[in-house]
Amino acid sequence: MSDETPICSAKGCRTAAVWVLAWNNPKIHTPERRKTWLACEEHREHLSQFLGVRGFLKDVVLLTEWQEQEQRG
Ligand SMILES: [Zn+2]
Repeated sequence: MSDETPICSAKGCRTAAVWVLAWNNPKIHTPERRKTWLACEEHREHLSQFLGVRGFLKDVVLLTEWQEQEQRG
């Protein structure tokens, strides 16, 4: 693993991330804005629920797919 390996955003977790959770808080972000959290396989559901109950969660995609999308623009 290199220093550039994305790490899960869950508190205290040092596992490599597999998922990207794209979210938006309508109270502080414009509608097209996307904040992202990274999640390992274990924490994807926990983090998704945290955002989901607040109505913030927009998308959950594989990190590899997210990176491809970013490269395509
Ligand atoms: Zn994790």
